[in-house]
Amino acid sequence: MDFDLNDEQKTWKKIVHDFVIKELRPKAREVDEKEEFNWDSVRKGGPIGLLGMSIPEAYGGSNVDSISNAIAMEELGWGCGSTALAFTAHNGLGTAPIALYGSEELKQKWLPLVARGKNKLGALALTEPGAGSDIQGGVLTKAEKQGDEWVINGSKMWCTNAGIAEYIITLVRTDPRGGSKSLSMILVPTDSKGLTIGPAEKKMGLRGSPAHGVTYDNVRVPLGNLVGGEGRGLQQTLSTLDAGRISIGAISVGLAQAALEAAVNYARERKAFGQAISEFQAIQFKLSNMAMEIELARTMIYKSAWLKDQGRPYNKEAAIAKLFATEMAERVCYEAIQIHGGYGYSREYHVERMYRDARLMTIGEGTSEIQRLVIARHVLASE
Ligand SMILES: Cc1cc2nc3c(=O)[nH]c(=O)nc-3n(C[C@H](O)[C@H](O)[C@H](O)COP(=O)(O)OP(=O)(O)OC[C@H]3O[C@@H](n4cnc5c(N)ncnc54)[C@H](O)[C@@H]3O)c2cc1C
Repeated sequence: MDFDLNDEQKTWKKIVHDFVIKELRPKAREVDEKEEFNWDSVRKGGPIGLLGMSIPEAYGGSNVDSISNAIAMEELGWGCGSTALAFTAHNGLGTAPIALYGSEELKQKWLPLVARGKNKLGALALTEPGAGSDIQGGVLTKAEKQGDEWVINGSKMWCTNAGIAEYIITLVRTDPRGGSKSLSMILVPTDSKGLTIGPAEKKMGLRGSPAHGVTYDNVRVPLGNLVGGEGRGLQQTLSTLDAGRISIGAISVGLAQAALEAAVNYARERKAFGQAISEFQAIQFKLSNMAMEIELARTMIYKSAWLKDQGRPYNKEAAIAKLFATEMAERVCYEAIQIHGGYGYSREYHVERMYRDARLMTIGEGTSEIQRLVIARHVLASE
């Protein structure tokens, strides 16, 4: 990799890489087959900072810069898509909104609890059974003030980590009149009365990353559990998703890199018509395209992370990075299977799992269609 990382980032990359080789890679198939969350390794990621990447040091976090976050997410994705998704749902979705918008009281109470792997994780519930892309118009879960409490009713869908979380930051409608200032984020502890977390959904891929439906039946939490401003939920969500898109793009680059490496190894070993299939130009061209696309995606991920670290706008760049990296990962995993021939379709080989894991990336944290809408808005406004 040619990108000019500083010494701290290079050291961080090595630490995470070594962790992933030891902890994630050897368990990736088992986690998928058994649909089991890799708690043991996730906990071990706590002391090295992988659970506190969005949390300031004052609250026990490692508070890494955005490029370091992207480095970690690529490495984790390279090792195990499922476990990588759990890490990013915790860091980017489950803790970043508290660190960025939460009151001092919320930060002190919840961030140290989830920063080091001693307890459970954080989660964010935006999506509902009837609405994912259309959050502004579609969120029906509501919170009403009664005395010094919020009373929450409604249901959420696809909440990653919900069953293994200390709390769920929940996007709710606090102004029934609707509009862009009618949504808010409220922290709901998972042991709250009236909160029901459904069983983990049966998924095509990322089967070691539990995602749940959640229902709120007169759930009461203190008014102080509001995360950020009342009516600021939509803006806070959009900004959280901008950052999250860099992470999902980075996981996709990691998945694609792993698929490329598997394809190269296989192409060198597999013989057909008297020679290694890597000698065929058709196979070589596939490998070239895969390597080229991975490099382009990684560069765009780093560019958007760099813009974020500079405090500059990066909404368009994060959308481009996410869109390209996630669709690229699917193409690369597809070709990795093709290069493996029939064995690529077998669960004995890792590439079929990577292909299934990569498929989610064009959907979660904003579908490809939504990324194209975001990019088009910028293009039409300025060019
Ligand atoms: C494994 C997994 C984990 C997830 N984790 C979380 C989580 O932790 N927290 C959370 O809140 N959510 C989570 N999600 C939900 C995810 O973010 C949503 O599925 C996603 O945002 C799409 O929403 P939807 O499924 O409701 O699809 P819809 O919004 O109903 O979209 C359906 C189709 O219509 C298209 N579409 C919608 N609107 C437009 C438009 N304006 N123009 C063009 N096309 C459009 C979409 O692109 C898509 O192709 C997760 C989902 C999965 C599968």
